[in-house]
Amino acid sequence: MIRTRFAPSPNGSLHLGHAFAAIVAHDRAAREDGEFLLRIEDIDGERSRANLPCEFREDLAWLGLAYREVAPQSARIASYRAAFERLKLMDVVYPCRCTRAEIALAYRELGPDGPVYPGTCRGRQVDPGEGAAWRLDVATALALTGSLTWTDELAGKQQAAPEAFGDVVLWRKDAPASYHLAVTLDDAADGITHVTRGMDLFPATHVHRLLQALLTLPVPTWRHHGLLVEPDGRKLAKRRGSPSLADRRRAGEDGPALAVRLRAHDFPAGISLSQSLDL
Ligand code: GLU
Repeated sequence: MIRTRFAPSPNGSLHLGHAFAAIVAHDRAAREDGEFLLRIEDIDGERSRANLPCEFREDLAWLGLAYREVAPQSARIASYRAAFERLKLMDVVYPCRCTRAEIALAYRELGPDGPVYPGTCRGRQVDPGEGAAWRLDVATALALTGSLTWTDELAGKQQAAPEAFGDVVLWRKDAPASYHLAVTLDDAADGITHVTRGMDLFPATHVHRLLQALLTLPVPTWRHHGLLVEPDGRKLAKRRGSPSLADRRRAGEDGPALAVRLRAHDFPAGISLSQSLDL
């Protein structure tokens, strides 16, 4: 059975872009009588706000999207730790104590997420105790797995190229697991067959594919859709005046009618999709 998910982080209210992402996930499953899940990605402790998961549930119901909610990330920390310990035993992670400022001074390339970590601590005897972050040794990991491919339903078959990110952090000093590790494990645990999400996360999939191979997890199909953008091409954001779904809901807007319009790509004035590959 097809299973998709919407995985918002509770660090800000949802906006139209999230509604579009939820609709893409919901409809991809519904088209084949599948299941649509809601998973709250709440391990960014400092930024998570306790009232937001409730707001998100109300937003989805308002849009007319039926979902089944699964465990939030905060309830899955033990599984992240177990996977991290496995990676340690495989010798594909190493501790790092570089600060952001040090990396900003030493980097040589810009990757999809900003400066690529130049590998300063790789092969060094860094104290792995309290306060260290742990990075994936991408070259060593790829030597173990061999070359990998993955498939996006819209963009086609891809050769996995996680090197572009450099040695990403998998275990953080300020939060339990990184986005990359947590989302990869959660999608496998939830039996997600089709990972739908915005194009902005397309490059991250290369890293997720590598983690799947290392941890012998099932490999889903991906569907990276276009992002809703402001007239200047930037992603929608509340701070740029795009009202939240909760604001719209409380103002009495008709949720199902909004969902119909988003499906038809009839966006509010000025807002458009970042590219034509979308639904
Ligand atoms: N929690 C992520 C976000 O809100 C989404 C992760 C994903 O879809 O892989 O951007």
